[in-house]
Amino acid sequence: MIDISKKVLVVGIGGLGSIAAFDLAQCGIKTIGLMDPDNVELSNLHRQLLYTKDDIGYPKVIRAQKRLKNLFPSNNYIPYEMPMEESTFKNIAQNYDLIVDGLDRIEKKFTLNDMCVKLNIPYIHAGAVQLEGQVLPVFPGLSACLRCLFDAPTENYSAPSCQEIGVLGPAVQTIGWFQVFEIRKFLNQEKNFFLWKINLENRKIQASHLLKSSNCKICN
Ligand SMILES: [Zn+2]
Repeated sequence: MIDISKKVLVVGIGGLGSIAAFDLAQCGIKTIGLMDPDNVELSNLHRQLLYTKDDIGYPKVIRAQKRLKNLFPSNNYIPYEMPMEESTFKNIAQNYDLIVDGLDRIEKKFTLNDMCVKLNIPYIHAGAVQLEGQVLPVFPGLSACLRCLFDAPTENYSAPSCQEIGVLGPAVQTIGWFQVFEIRKFLNQEKNFFLWKINLENRKIQASHLLKSSNCKICN
């Protein structure tokens, strides 16, 4: 049974974050934080399902809060119209039981990974580019982390973002629903979590248990 008293913070309310926030709201999660510094743009609408053309030019977190409040009024939605930065993140994140990674750039995803592990807060990573992506639940101290998955990249590691090389709307949504599946398992107190790798072009979906990397500076 879903524990609706768990507090969940969604960081990045774009393609992935829209789906996660919607599902958390419809599950009846009472406290949902929404963090994003950006305004809605026309180019977002095909994959960021919380927004319509009337939202263009307005802050994503405010419009997402409004939409979710209309759909599921009994929950509390707390908007944080700000980028995820180390100086402010700790005080906010400590009020939550779970963090959801809805960020768009891999560098930011690593920063979120490092902060969640350091703060000992579970989080569910997801990422999508072009026609593929992955979902990884991270339980600090217990499971592998995002740096283990990418075999401990250096400080300068970067990869093309979905803005640069594109991402198909249905690919984001597919990966978003796999992320939701892992979020729901957390809310259900289940303990069996998987790394999902999804490649729509090759028609491959794989689930496995990721082991900690001995090179990972965060896990070691
Ligand atoms: Zn690690």
